[in-house]
Amino acid sequence: MVIVMKHGATAEEIAGVIQHVESLGFKPHVSRGEECTIIGVIGDERPIEPEHFELCAGVERAIRILHPFKLASRDFHPDDSVVKINGVSIGARQVIVMAGPCSVESREQLMETAAAVKEAGAHILRGGAFKPRTSPYAFQGLGLKGLELLREAREQLDLPIVTEVMSPQEVTLVAQYADILQVGARNMENSALLRAVGEIQKPVLLKRGKMSTVEELLMAAEYILAQGNPRVMVCERGIRTFETATRNTFDINAIPVLKSLTHLPVIADPSHGTGKWELVPAVARAAIAAGADGLLVEVHHDPAHALSDGAQSLTPDHFARMIADVRRIAEAIGRTTCNRCAMQWSRLSAWA
Ligand code: PEP
Ligand code: MN
Repeated sequence: MVIVMKHGATAEEIAGVIQHVESLGFKPHVSRGEECTIIGVIGDERPIEPEHFELCAGVERAIRILHPFKLASRDFHPDDSVVKINGVSIGARQVIVMAGPCSVESREQLMETAAAVKEAGAHILRGGAFKPRTSPYAFQGLGLKGLELLREAREQLDLPIVTEVMSPQEVTLVAQYADILQVGARNMENSALLRAVGEIQKPVLLKRGKMSTVEELLMAAEYILAQGNPRVMVCERGIRTFETATRNTFDINAIPVLKSLTHLPVIADPSHGTGKWELVPAVARAAIAAGADGLLVEVHHDPAHALSDGAQSLTPDHFARMIADVRRIAEAIGRTTCNRCAMQWSRLSAWA
């Protein structure tokens, strides 16, 4: 941290700040300029807020030098982290696709959609059993029954599962069924939940809050990492802006910003990022071109009758085409999807 003293700060004020810096266990480094004096604070400044020094007499302002997150930062972990789940590596060269319905609605709906996304080349099956809905009158998910159906799909199709957990009390239960625990946008700042998923050794997909900055997202990831769980992935899913043409504004900038700040895998959710199925493939392609390590995409075998997020759900056919296009983008930037996708793509090209 750097403390800038006010123009004309007195010798007593400067001495007072130096003493304060020392009393907190830091080493002061004083440089006296013609206009003002600057005091460098040497040591790990993260536990201290700049306001702490700004309240001292004679201080103009205090500025952080280090990012407030440490375990999530590339500063101390320059290489990409790779999260491994049952043979799937997320954060490596391969672009990973997680796909499935917004909510698990019934055995028929889940099995039909799951088989289709697997056939198209998805690596991980998504589906919400506990749903965070805006309205308390809307479908809230099948709960435990939904988890049991996800387990059935996992066993039948040999696909790992990602599903949301909404409260610390439910972490143990959901972790018995899920391969990846999803912390949703609404819960990104729920520190009790972040600690609870940090205490359990399961990969976590942490979604950005709809009104959260990239730094706040990484501070939320820091909560999980600080509990000793290193398997965290962060997800850009769109933020709320003044724009009303789409449900959210997918923040494409966040992808390269996150990739430069953190070693954690970065996932893009173009479904919630747009809210409109027609826009999902274009934003998925853009996210992969921008450097995302994977996608989280909503697919429904019958979107018109979906119990949640039908408007942003791709049909299995549209999803297969999206995967084929994503594969071409991935290859253009030296990445890959899987062999299955390559086979699927050549079949689709043969039909075109
Ligand atoms: C979801 O993935 O279905 C979901 C509810 O996402 P978000 O938390 O990003 O709104
Ligand atoms: Mn959804």
